[in-house]
Amino acid sequence: MKKIAIYGKGGIGKSTTVSNLSAALSTLGYKVMQVGCDPKADSTKNLMKGAFIPTVLDVLKGKEDIELEDIIFEGYNGVLCAEAGGPTPGIGCAGRGIITAFEKLEELEAFENYNPDIVIYDVLGDVVCGGFAMPIRNQYANEVYIVTSGEMMSMYAASNISSAVKQFKSKGYAKLKGLILNAKNVENEVNLVERLCTEIDTNIFHYIPRNPLVQEAENDGKTVVEAFKESEMSNIYIDLAKKIMEE
Ligand code: ADP
Ligand code: SF4
Ligand code: MG
Repeated sequence: MKKIAIYGKGGIGKSTTVSNLSAALSTLGYKVMQVGCDPKADSTKNLMKGAFIPTVLDVLKGKEDIELEDIIFEGYNGVLCAEAGGPTPGIGCAGRGIITAFEKLEELEAFENYNPDIVIYDVLGDVVCGGFAMPIRNQYANEVYIVTSGEMMSMYAASNISSAVKQFKSKGYAKLKGLILNAKNVENEVNLVERLCTEIDTNIFHYIPRNPLVQEAENDGKTVVEAFKESEMSNIYIDLAKKIMEE
């Protein structure tokens, strides 16, 4: 079982990239589990016809004895979807929430029961505190990818995330496999991100152009891979899926 974490600044396109990646992997015949680790809890909605699924933290608030069926939902093409959820605004710690959700998935033997080929964590990377760094730890993810554009703030976040991954490197935890450039069409974008790659010693693993089909599909509660199967954009996500499985 392959386990990867995809980090990046809020709003940069992580969930769009991850849900299209999951959809692409499923069309290639892989069993995929996608775990949203962002208090926004909207990681999986384009795999679930636009619906927000109950989060692990919310379900845990309601009852103690929960089952896998309460927190894992089957979405597009059999992709298994879960959302860690977040704390009540102003109270509690989002990182702690991720840890609680992970412990619950482990306790209920989610991976043993569903036996996915790949688990993808979609993680907010604005703050890389202990909680948000949780998926980098070995038992959770082995590989990390960072979504960024050429915008300053998203590259700043990427640089921070890369430092966090390096913190854990000596302990044999997850490795940074590269950046996924989700274009915002900033001037000189590729050059800017290439320069960042030199600074943090990584590479542009995949380039995803900006494309209005993303929003069009999203308005319909779908990924591009589902809504526009034959499009060039869909193929870009399929290529990403193939490359990740080859790693
Ligand atoms: P995050 O998960 O990082 O917070 P989202 O995946 O929710 O970000 O993306 C934020 C917005 O950007 C979404 O409304 C999405 O439609 C848009 N978006 C993301 N990637 C692309 C792209 N390649 N082309 C066009 N729009 C995109
Ligand atoms: Fe929790 Fe991290 Fe926020 Fe601190 S910074 S409260 S550890 S989520
Ligand atoms: Mg998101």
